[in-house]
Amino acid sequence: MGIKHLFKQTSGWLYLNSSVGRNQLHGAGVILMLHRVLSNDRAADLPHRNELCVGPKAFDHLLGWLTRHFDCVPLMDILQPTQRPSKRPKVALTFDDGWRDNAMNAFPLLLKHQVPASIFLSSDFIGSRQRFWWESISETLWGTHGEEPRMHLIECLQQAGRPLPGLLDNADADRRSLALLRFVQSLKTLTADELNRLTDECPTDSMPQALDWQQVRALENSGLVRFGPHGASHAILTGLDDCTLAQEIRRSRDALQNGCNRPLPVYCYPNGDNDARVRQQVADHDFPFALGTTTGIYRGDSEPLALPRFGVSQRVARNPQLLSWRIYRGARA
Ligand SMILES: [Zn+2]
Repeated sequence: MGIKHLFKQTSGWLYLNSSVGRNQLHGAGVILMLHRVLSNDRAADLPHRNELCVGPKAFDHLLGWLTRHFDCVPLMDILQPTQRPSKRPKVALTFDDGWRDNAMNAFPLLLKHQVPASIFLSSDFIGSRQRFWWESISETLWGTHGEEPRMHLIECLQQAGRPLPGLLDNADADRRSLALLRFVQSLKTLTADELNRLTDECPTDSMPQALDWQQVRALENSGLVRFGPHGASHAILTGLDDCTLAQEIRRSRDALQNGCNRPLPVYCYPNGDNDARVRQQVADHDFPFALGTTTGIYRGDSEPLALPRFGVSQRVARNPQLLSWRIYRGARA
């Protein structure tokens, strides 16, 4: 372990256990952002998955650590507290996108630790396959779905003027995965149409199954999980014209209202992207709260339509003390 890493772990821990830390966090809340919980930790450790995936052992470890240091509460207990703040800081878990693994791998561990969570669904995908270009392209290039589709996609990328870098042939899995991560990030400069066309060239299996309504209702009935909208098609809201933007928000809101018993009055921006126009539209569709992706602690005076969150990667889930370091930095900001 490097000195820097050790320093972050130790000072983060000291912060949470000091009177300064307790005072700064008194009455405040920490909202965590997760995406996927895979069935295997080694798969989640790879750099191209690390940001959006955690493994079951790491998630179990994270939940144990959270319950020791925080009051793990439903999101609305932070946004609209009904009880006097307790001595410990509050934390709420949120999951974006509505991955099926939230039901398969995350829920049993939430149940074990009795930790509540909120899941934000891209409503067009419920009960079908998620259309996330980065997931389909990454996993196809990684070879998860076989050599033939991998070679085919490499050809298509070449035709699109994005040849695969040689580093992706590296024998070392971690290096290959890191090169893949950088390459896929570089594709963000392509247009939505180009990315769509490339996604079409990936095998169907590369589009993961989303949660279906039966799973949504079963999770809701557990009393531990609530749901909110995360766009309909997961389009980046700031890039839509007024009419499409309104349709996207309305469609996702209506789907949740029809499918859930008690949908959250909280919108969750795809990619976290929002501006004054998007926030106004979300407010006009009766959402008093919305979640972004900027980092910070929630206090009662935060902008309710761009609430800050802390992203949880596999690295952070394995070393939750790093999270207290980030909270400490966020509290000082
Ligand atoms: Zn998302």
